[in-house]
Amino acid sequence: MNKNLLYRSIPKVDVLLEDSAIQELTGRYGKETVMESVHIETDRLRAYIAKSENEEEARKEISLLVSRVEKTVTDMHTPNMRMVVNGTGTILHTNLGRAPISEEHMKKVISLVSGYSNLEYNLDAGKRGERYSHFEKLLCRLTGAEAAMAVNNNASSVLLILSSLAKGGEVIVSRGELIEIGGKFRIPDVMEQSGASLVEVGTTNKTHYDDYEDAVTEETKALLKVHTSNYRIVGFTDSVGIDELIPLAREKDIPVIEDLGSGVLIDLAKYGLAHEPTVQESIAKGADVVCFSGDKLLGGPQAGIIIGKKKYIDKMKKNQLTRALRIDKFTAATLELVLQEYLSEEKAVQNIPVLRMLSESQESVAGRAHRLCGILKERKLPVKTEVKPCESQIGGGSLPLERIPSTAVTIRPEEISVNELEERMRRLPVPIIPRTVNDEILLDMRTVSEQEINVIAGQLAVSGILVK
Ligand SMILES: *Cc1c(COP(=O)(O)O)cnc(C)c1O
Repeated sequence: MNKNLLYRSIPKVDVLLEDSAIQELTGRYGKETVMESVHIETDRLRAYIAKSENEEEARKEISLLVSRVEKTVTDMHTPNMRMVVNGTGTILHTNLGRAPISEEHMKKVISLVSGYSNLEYNLDAGKRGERYSHFEKLLCRLTGAEAAMAVNNNASSVLLILSSLAKGGEVIVSRGELIEIGGKFRIPDVMEQSGASLVEVGTTNKTHYDDYEDAVTEETKALLKVHTSNYRIVGFTDSVGIDELIPLAREKDIPVIEDLGSGVLIDLAKYGLAHEPTVQESIAKGADVVCFSGDKLLGGPQAGIIIGKKKYIDKMKKNQLTRALRIDKFTAATLELVLQEYLSEEKAVQNIPVLRMLSESQESVAGRAHRLCGILKERKLPVKTEVKPCESQIGGGSLPLERIPSTAVTIRPEEISVNELEERMRRLPVPIIPRTVNDEILLDMRTVSEQEINVIAGQLAVSGILVK
């Protein structure tokens, strides 16, 4: 084969740039990335020819040059982060973005962030305001606290609280509460970062009031309670409640801090789940400072919400760290809208996706399962598909033992393996993330919306991923 002839038949750059498809790309994306892609793909082509032993294949590669350039340019301009269908049934899936925000709420946020807003401007006074002002009163009303603020996430809350109230001093924590949350967020490590020193008391399974009392010294700056969000110690156990610690803390004039992890504002027992201590209960029991996540069971944007006595919250607002940990306008705007829903529990459960998914009846979930299964059967795809009962999880390190009865659509491909199908589903334009159980693909419909039924069915039907 004559390689020189092949090299010469590669279109020159200026000729390529005249190509109508390439010109259209330049119009859409600008000349920079088009030029870059032309160079990348012609270099690749030369390297291919250098190694090739087959003239026919090499000519085919040359004829594909323009479409290769098109793909490279398009890929550069396609956002890597995109929507996926969560078929796992895990409602707060940390890897899939934790709490989804409703479209209604996001529509309202658009006008606040695409133009200017009163984020830090007090319209009544005509001067500088506070970014927490938009939701501070609301949080106080909902929880009974005196003051409130929010930072980037709940890990930041813990850091800021300890740094503001206990730097250079000691903080007492039960050994049963020295948790790791995930992503290596460990209470002892955060404590070290904050400049406070940890005093561990009790044992893994039992901590008594005396343990706290004996550990309090002149150096003690706070008593910290941490909700063991993602695990449970059961059996021969004992722990000391906030209410029992209050008299000791008052006597020593130090605060009791509680890290609740998930911020629950409603009684989940009403919806068939275990009762999870609510934020209001913590405040009512006398906790001086309470913190929780915005995007766990609260169902809002990623944030760390801190509420409690005004004198402590004021200290935190003045801490230099607050500037580094502060929330942005997207979060401030979304948080206010989500918290407003809680003014009526009924509205909150309807309008906050996390609460809606959590409380939806199995029959209602089953309706979606039957609709999806029906469409898949109607299209006569090479799969066996059935509607089966399954169990959803809460996830996000919340209520680790709870399971919610749910309904799934199972898919067993006839021509390819389950693993192959699982991988192909991940690579779809709208990736579908299923569970694989007992050698079948399982889509738990609790976390799949009505609109997503067509997204799933459409992609399975036309993408050809079901055939060999
Ligand atoms: C989840 C959790 C955190 C961390 O919250 P993020 O919002 O993920 O930063 C801290 N403490 C507890 C007890 C938690 O459950």
